[in-house]
Amino acid sequence: MSDTKINSGGRTPSGRVIPARVLLGVFAAAVASLAFAPAVEDESPKTPDQALAKLMSGNQRFVEMKAKAGDKKIDRDELAAGQAPFAAVIRCADSRVAPEICFDQPLGSLFVCAVAGNIPTSEGIASLEFGVAVLGTKLIVVMGHSGCGAVDAAIKHRDDTSVLPGSLPGLINQIVSPCALSVDPKDPEALAKATRCNANLGVTELLKESPVIREAVQNGKLRVVAGVQDLATGRFTLTRE
Ligand SMILES: [Zn+2]
Repeated sequence: MSDTKINSGGRTPSGRVIPARVLLGVFAAAVASLAFAPAVEDESPKTPDQALAKLMSGNQRFVEMKAKAGDKKIDRDELAAGQAPFAAVIRCADSRVAPEICFDQPLGSLFVCAVAGNIPTSEGIASLEFGVAVLGTKLIVVMGHSGCGAVDAAIKHRDDTSVLPGSLPGLINQIVSPCALSVDPKDPEALAKATRCNANLGVTELLKESPVIREAVQNGKLRVVAGVQDLATGRFTLTRE
């Protein structure tokens, strides 16, 4: 409906003229009903693109300190009955990184795998395959973060990870090559660059190692993206879409 019609009144199919003030009233009522209608935000995404948009708008709320997922009353019966997470996340084990909070999503909406350095291990890949093939997850996010200790260790010990304790060398080696080796350790941006590299590499690994994920992407049922959360601002920035 154009502004002109609102301002000058309108005509019904039977030819009856409707005064402009009545049309304005109808218009106002329609706007009011939209305000009380369930927000699109509360709907489950139907496509991978919608899933990504939902995550990014949730992150925007988190950045602006306007998160609302925590305000929602938890329906324990609904949670216990089953899950249909619209997105999956591989996150670092870092205690400051929490996808449900960073993307402002309630319990039951994100399928999360955690490992230091957000590396897609074979177990992590199998977990994500469950999310995609069984739960119908539409999006996988490889989530790096600023100040990542695993990436930092890979840069510092890139010439010899054997000095690291326990099983850490095997894990950190996966970040050393190619990401820690691709940066100049003296570069102030080395950690940020290697962190982006490592997140993006996670997408490559998932597509390479998992026929289930690859096929879902080819069929348009799934998107696999990477990004980095800046802990100081809370902002999650996509680095590979
Ligand atoms: Zn980390």
